[in-house]
Amino acid sequence: PVTAAQQWTRTTCGYCGVGCQMDAGSADGRVVAVRPAQHPVNRGHLCLKGRYGFEFNHAADRVTQPMIKQHGEWQPVGWDEALGFVANRLLAIRGQHGPDAIGVLGSARASNEENYLAQKFARVVVGSNNVDCCARVCHTPSAKALKTMLGTGAATNHFDDIEQAATILLCGCNPTENHPVVGARIKQAARRGARLLVIDPRRTELAAMADVHLPVRPGHNVPLLNAMAATLIAEGLLNHDFIAARVTGYAELADFLRDYTPERVAAGCGVAAADIRAAARLYATQGPAMCLHGLGVTEHLQGTEGVMCLINLALLSGNLGKPGSGINPLRGQNNVQGAAHMGCDPATLTGAQSFADAGERFAAHWGTPLPQNRGLDLLQMMDAARDGRLKALWAMGYDIYLTLANEAATAASLAQLELVIVQDLFLNETARRFGHVFLPAASFLEKDGTFMNADRRVQRIRQVVPPPGDALPDWQIICRLAAAMGQPAGFDFAEPQAVWDEIRALWPAGAGLSYARLAQESLHWPCPDEQHPGTPVLHGTRFASSQTATLACIPFLPSSEQPDDDYPLLLVTGRALVHFNAGTMSYRGRNALLRPSDTLDMAPADAARLGLQQGERVRLHSRYGSAVLPLNISDAQQAGQLFASFHRPDLLLNRLTSSVRDRLVHAPEYKLTAVRVEKA
Ligand code: SF4
Repeated sequence: PVTAAQQWTRTTCGYCGVGCQMDAGSADGRVVAVRPAQHPVNRGHLCLKGRYGFEFNHAADRVTQPMIKQHGEWQPVGWDEALGFVANRLLAIRGQHGPDAIGVLGSARASNEENYLAQKFARVVVGSNNVDCCARVCHTPSAKALKTMLGTGAATNHFDDIEQAATILLCGCNPTENHPVVGARIKQAARRGARLLVIDPRRTELAAMADVHLPVRPGHNVPLLNAMAATLIAEGLLNHDFIAARVTGYAELADFLRDYTPERVAAGCGVAAADIRAAARLYATQGPAMCLHGLGVTEHLQGTEGVMCLINLALLSGNLGKPGSGINPLRGQNNVQGAAHMGCDPATLTGAQSFADAGERFAAHWGTPLPQNRGLDLLQMMDAARDGRLKALWAMGYDIYLTLANEAATAASLAQLELVIVQDLFLNETARRFGHVFLPAASFLEKDGTFMNADRRVQRIRQVVPPPGDALPDWQIICRLAAAMGQPAGFDFAEPQAVWDEIRALWPAGAGLSYARLAQESLHWPCPDEQHPGTPVLHGTRFASSQTATLACIPFLPSSEQPDDDYPLLLVTGRALVHFNAGTMSYRGRNALLRPSDTLDMAPADAARLGLQQGERVRLHSRYGSAVLPLNISDAQQAGQLFASFHRPDLLLNRLTSSVRDRLVHAPEYKLTAVRVEKA
């Protein structure tokens, strides 16, 4: 039966990084409905996840009490006992092995305030820079590339520029399914006349609409994008004024790209040389071109460098610093931009500030010296756990066992840890197999704070209903654990607004983002004072730290993960419209009825060759493991390539994926695994 809402509360969708605004209806302490808000981001729309995916909040298996595992069984305990246990174990481990034996993982599911406190806890209470978050496995390559070349590691433009762009380049992303409200805006823009250029191995819905679709072979973004840049240079499709005023390294790049003509790379990339030229012409000659990219670029050996190649195109054609242009990573989770930007990153402090620039200021504000050792990122923490250097890990809102690539390697690492603290809504797979303590958290519908969406917009979330049982918001758990470890000072916040005000005091580009202003509107940083209108478009007249940006010469380095006679097909893993990431939220509600299982998408020619039928169960084998899932024969797939969604925990698709990582920032190569397929 449908219960009528007694109260409506404006908040931000807790699924993807689009950041749609919505009104959540509640009655008798339960969320009973969600309706879209009229707002610049979503303009009265929500997708299937935001609109209907709220039932997880009251699922019967929500964990509502802290638990400690004793003799293999979870025992419910009170908060004092749970936090006392954790505090004693962490203090003992730190005493015996030093602070760098402990790692902390913030969460894209948590607010900015909570991620700020998570990294402050790691650096102040533990005394280690071992703090990271799930941005590591998705868009850290984007942040690294953008920061290195342009000075700011975030999207250059905002979503309203979709309607300003004459050409939209989509590279390695499928917004129709993964960022549906943005995907719909792109589709509408194309129908109104914007030109569409899609680089994607699959014939997605937007690829099918595109003026040019380059179905690049997985792992070949770098040579393809280099060949597009070479075409711009060879055909003089350059913005000479922009290059003269704001770009360095042109001569070096022009010389370097002589080896990357379309003819030389076409066969390896699986596309025609003429189509590469057509794509380059379309990008550079039709007015402002806006590039949006996804994990098909970043989750590769050369993920960071793939984004750098996209930035090269923007610099050569002058598609930066103006409406309808730019380089825009489509952030997957609601607050993944915020989690890393708040300092859940071993190498940077809040606001992506460096230790060299801001370390003294943070130390003075926090009243303690900052840890001197370089911190470990998430993948390095897994290596350190395997080697016995890391002893304890606190994972907030992050099912690392289920979602990290190469399940066997992840399991081997987690099994070595002396203490695994899992903080989540549900007993996730990490907790089930490796957890020692479980701390029940509040969902985004049960707390106040802010999220930061994919286009740098800071938006409020508001409590719609109270947390169930003894569950607490992450910020309260962090503060209580700090007190239990003898460090209450600096963690004695009465409310999230007080945390946010501390963040604003330490982050000059966010100083103008007061809760009072955010109550009225969402604002893009940089926003340095309370009169500042925010900055929807970056790099208007100069880059963050200099007048010019330097073009990057990126040689192609093929992944070690290649097909052979035993593993002849290439598997790409990714998401599907009605579900979200590990399925934790979207499978606990009616969305599960719409798509009960993940599928393996295969080209008709491959299915015919292997004698496989639509819907039958097939077994995939990679060099690392195997998985069984139903077959979906799809014209969207090219022969020799497969696509599988990864939402169901029982399928554990990461049994298949490899340990290949981005060679600069270590994001796993989820988008390229050699496999073979047989009847299950
Ligand atoms: Fe939520 Fe993203 Fe869907 Fe908007 S597009 S409703 S933010 S999941």
